[in-house]
Amino acid sequence: MTISSHTNQTLVLVVDDDLVIQMQLRQAMHKEGYKVIAASDGQEALDIYIRLHPDIILLDAMMPVMDGFTCCAQLQTLDTDKFKNHFSQTTPILMITGLDDPGSVDKAFAVGASDYITKPIHWAVLRQRVRRLLQMNWMMKELRHKIEQEQLIAKITHKIRQSLNLEIILNTTVTEVRQLLHTDRVIVYGFHPDGSGTVLVESVGSQWQSILGKEIKDCYFLEKCGQDYQKGTVYMINDIDTANLPQCQLNLLAELQAKANLVVPIVESENLWGLLVAYQCSEPRQWQMLEIDLLTQIADQLVIAIQQAHIYERLEVANQELKRLANIDGLTQIANRRCFDEVLFQEWKRLQREKLPLSLILCDIDFFKTYNDTCGHPAGDECLKQVAYIINQTVNRPADLVARYGGEEFVLILPNTDAEGAVRIAEKIQSQITNAAISHLSSKVSKYVTLSLGIATLIPHAQTSPEYLIAQADQALYQAKQAGRNCFFIAS
Ligand code: GH3
Ligand code: MG
Ligand code: MG
Repeated sequence: MTISSHTNQTLVLVVDDDLVIQMQLRQAMHKEGYKVIAASDGQEALDIYIRLHPDIILLDAMMPVMDGFTCCAQLQTLDTDKFKNHFSQTTPILMITGLDDPGSVDKAFAVGASDYITKPIHWAVLRQRVRRLLQMNWMMKELRHKIEQEQLIAKITHKIRQSLNLEIILNTTVTEVRQLLHTDRVIVYGFHPDGSGTVLVESVGSQWQSILGKEIKDCYFLEKCGQDYQKGTVYMINDIDTANLPQCQLNLLAELQAKANLVVPIVESENLWGLLVAYQCSEPRQWQMLEIDLLTQIADQLVIAIQQAHIYERLEVANQELKRLANIDGLTQIANRRCFDEVLFQEWKRLQREKLPLSLILCDIDFFKTYNDTCGHPAGDECLKQVAYIINQTVNRPADLVARYGGEEFVLILPNTDAEGAVRIAEKIQSQITNAAISHLSSKVSKYVTLSLGIATLIPHAQTSPEYLIAQADQALYQAKQAGRNCFFIAS
């Protein structure tokens, strides 16, 4: 945005060393309703251009100090280098001169003049040329803005397709929007259910205070505009001093260092999710229709990104739950066989590398068939749950795993645990089961539920396998059963 579009009055720079013609030009332009500033040579014209960025330059060719051709050429370099980003337009230059030989005309266009008229000035022609040049320049500017905006929307849309990370999308958005609007601050503000909210992302010029993460509760705003926001109405202030705002609102805007703001609601399925806000801090600002359009379109894109992020979040939760379910035994809620297989394989590899012992304990409930037969299957299930819970309580190292191996059999993986350590755990299991005293009247070894356990330990190496370790533990368990049950055996 140029200064002139803020004040909304066209500024004409008249450059002529002939003070009479300079005066006539000033008057003619003034009559057209333009603001006019004058210079008497090329150097002075350059200085004024840098300071005030006029909308058009009427430039005499023959002048002392710096002639019109040189001045015109230098203006081009200024326009393309330093000011292009700021003003993204070239200022039309109308050369006015007594020279009407074809060489001068060619030279004028070669150094970048937009048009050319000769002295004596035909005033009606001058007026029309100036009007046409301004109009064309304005249209070019509009077009360029439109293209830039389309490009930005395309960029944001692309980002949304590329990323599911809402924070990245929001950050890109505020950065790009601020750059395009040449404004001092752009934020996305997210609402909490109680009507307050937080500044989620911010792009801000270095001379202004950051408000990132700030909690803002804007009662006046919500009360006055809340309903409109729900419907997606844009709210803007061009100048806080003339907008007739209540004191609380003025205080808030002062705190945010804002002189003007443009607020676009982000409404996701009829719910006011947040706001996309552009602030001008340095001065008041007449927001343009094109800018309002841009923010509205971007807010629409953000809604898509937000919805996508919600879907992704739900998917993540569902995936986590699926993962959990895939590894958990439904009845006992401890790890299942699948999980056991996976963990055993991993621990085997790890301990093989570290050359450390791995122990396994297989536990089998004694005479469980008769427990089911006498107490019924549902009671059998309850018993399994209880036993699983007790066994699970006996280990406490993070790497230990208790799993349901199948039916009424449980298994413990005890990484970095030698046979001695495994025996201690086996004894602990037995004593805890004894303490629980779960009645089992049809057992042939006790009035209560008992377990037989088989222990196997080895340091994993390439010549053996996890299956071998399991077979060893199974064999030890078989020995325990043979020896009368309610005891443990260690594989030799
Ligand atoms: P042993 O002392 O030799 O281990 O005898 P046992 O009766 O415990 O062994 P057996 O393998 O003959 O029987 C295991 C029983 O475990 C058979 C089955 O009814 C019971 N069982 C297996 N899975 C479940 C289950 O999910 N729920 C219930 N209630 N019972 C189960
Ligand atoms: Mg069994
Ligand atoms: Mg059994």
